[in-house]
Amino acid sequence: MAEQSDLIIIGSGINGLVAGALCARAGKKVQLFERNPQLGGAIKTEEATLPGFTHELLSSWHPLFLGGPAYGQLKDELEKRGLHYKNTSAPA
Ligand SMILES: Cc1cc2nc3c(=O)[nH]c(=O)nc-3n(C[C@H](O)[C@H](O)[C@H](O)COP(=O)(O)OP(=O)(O)OC[C@H]3O[C@@H](n4cnc5c(N)ncnc54)[C@H](O)[C@@H]3O)c2cc1C
Repeated sequence: MAEQSDLIIIGSGINGLVAGALCARAGKKVQLFERNPQLGGAIKTEEATLPGFTHELLSSWHPLFLGGPAYGQLKDELEKRGLHYKNTSAPA
C-alpha cells in the first residue's frame, strides 16, 4: 500500500496533519501513520478533572495556528469538516 503513495508522513500531530493536508491539496497521494489510537498528537481533549469539563491537555495556544499561513489555506475545508474556533474579545 505504501508504494502507491507519493509521500508518507509518520505522526499525526499538527505538523503531520498540516503537511499532509497541504500536500494532498497539491495533488499528492499521502499516507499518514499514527501509533496512537487517537489522531492529533498533542492536540488532545480530555475530561482531566471533573466529569463534563473538557481540557486541552497540551495545546492551548491555538491563536498561533489561526494567525499562520497554513490555517489561511485550510480554513474553508476545516470549517466544512466541523472545525470552528470560538474566540473571546477579551485577551486571556
Ligand atoms: C507541556 C507542553 C505544553 C505545550 N503547550 C503548547 C501550547 O499551548 N500551544 C502550542 O501551540 N504548543 C504547545 N506545545 C507544543 C506542541 O505540543 C508542539 O508544538 C506540537 O505538538 C508539535 O506538533 P508535532 O506534529 O510536531 O508533534 P506531536 O504533536 O508531538 O505529534 C507527533 C505524533 O507522532 C506520533 N508518532 C511519533 N513517532 C511515531 C512513529 N514512529 N510511528 C507512528 N506515529 C508516531 C505520535 O504518537 C504523535 O501523535 C506544548 C508542548 C508541551 C510538551
